[in-house]
Amino acid sequence: MKQVIPQDLLNRLSAACDLVLKEEGFIRIVSHYDADGICAAGVLCHALTRKNKKFHIKLTSNLKDEYIEFLKKDRYPLTIFCDMGSGQLKNLKNLEGNVIILDHHTPIEDSEDPLQINAHFFGLNGTSEICASSLAFMFTVVMDENNWDLSALALAGCIGDKQHINGLAGYNAYMVGEAQERGVVKVTDTLNLNGKSVMRALVEGLDPFICGMSGREDRVADFLKNLNIDTETKIQELHDDQTRLLASAVIVRLLAQGVRPERAEGFITKRFWLPQWNLYAGDLSNYVNACGRMDQTGTGLALCLGEEKALSEAIALRKAYKDELRAGLLSLESQGAHEMGNIQFFYTENPSLAGANAGLGMMYVLNQDKPTFTLSVTEKETKVSSRGTNYLISKGLDLAYACRIAAEKVGGRGGGHPIASGASIPLGKEEAFLALLDDIVGQQIKSS
Ligand code: C5P
Repeated sequence: MKQVIPQDLLNRLSAACDLVLKEEGFIRIVSHYDADGICAAGVLCHALTRKNKKFHIKLTSNLKDEYIEFLKKDRYPLTIFCDMGSGQLKNLKNLEGNVIILDHHTPIEDSEDPLQINAHFFGLNGTSEICASSLAFMFTVVMDENNWDLSALALAGCIGDKQHINGLAGYNAYMVGEAQERGVVKVTDTLNLNGKSVMRALVEGLDPFICGMSGREDRVADFLKNLNIDTETKIQELHDDQTRLLASAVIVRLLAQGVRPERAEGFITKRFWLPQWNLYAGDLSNYVNACGRMDQTGTGLALCLGEEKALSEAIALRKAYKDELRAGLLSLESQGAHEMGNIQFFYTENPSLAGANAGLGMMYVLNQDKPTFTLSVTEKETKVSSRGTNYLISKGLDLAYACRIAAEKVGGRGGGHPIASGASIPLGKEEAFLALLDDIVGQQIKSS
């Protein structure tokens, strides 16, 4: 495995391993509260436990100044920031003790102290080729080759970060290829459907979200009747010809509602079975994601650590999360978003659901020619999530840049990836922020 890692990246990973292996005190791990961040933290926990290391974990939505101040007083001899840190590099320079950053978000500048391991500096695309979980996994395998089983959890993180959507690439593809060879993952081609029956899967599913049908039993029943498929048929019971018929009919509906062809065709997809987990990686990812978004990060981490009770709790959280998201999508379907010249936006009450609302809305419901922003006004600040598509990226869109610059201009902060980004801005600055975004996005797309 060491042969496939660029030498300069391997040097940094080895230096980080040395810091971990020599540490006798408590190590602080700070990671993001989404599926990728929690799975990455899980990967690190397994590896550190195997080395008898003591650690404390904090899962958080972003690195706020107050939390960094708190960390300064906390004085851990070693802190590992995972799935975050590159955007706050300046602030992390003043922390006491050793600091490792394992990040895949667009960085601002390189640094060896803090020991920053950001995929972007080593020729790896952090949006499509390596996520926080696969980077954390790479780190743990450099630490010990016996950690290959952790690739299962890392794959769940990749899926959470949507890095599998156009086919696994870069380091992710290498990791999964090797994991297959080692029996950690089994890959099959199938329909992107999940549920007790075809009917339940189409009624309850959010990805794909079929306008005029998802969330409505009567419409799904009619749709299946027209295809001559019994509503109670289980997904694994579908015959090949029924699978083909269903795939074509769903893809035609998606194209008719304006979904980009590459997204619609994603209804036929790869699924990754994880024998050790007795779960598909996509399901593990969804459960962990729901825990994070429903404010139960501890349950998500416990699930990553293999606690059985956590799985049943996570399944219930996933159901509640999906119900809330479905309500949001149905309302977006009927009310649409506010359109400006180059962007579209809408408000979401629950900031934890904002990213998923914006992402699913962008892919399945809203105008495909403009990136989507959703704003959640909280007591202290307004949180923003934004999503684009690969098509818009090919036209020059860079949401990480747009969010960072527009947020900074109104006294907030933002960043992320070109295709999925976010920001926190002061209350009352929403209009100015949106106007700046509209301008920046307009220039990005025009100048491409
Ligand atoms: O919260 P959401 O899922 O929309 O975040 C999208 C991406 O933007 C994430 O990768 C997150 O780390 C990043 N982000 C950021 N700064 C913020 C908010 C989000 O870098 N203030």
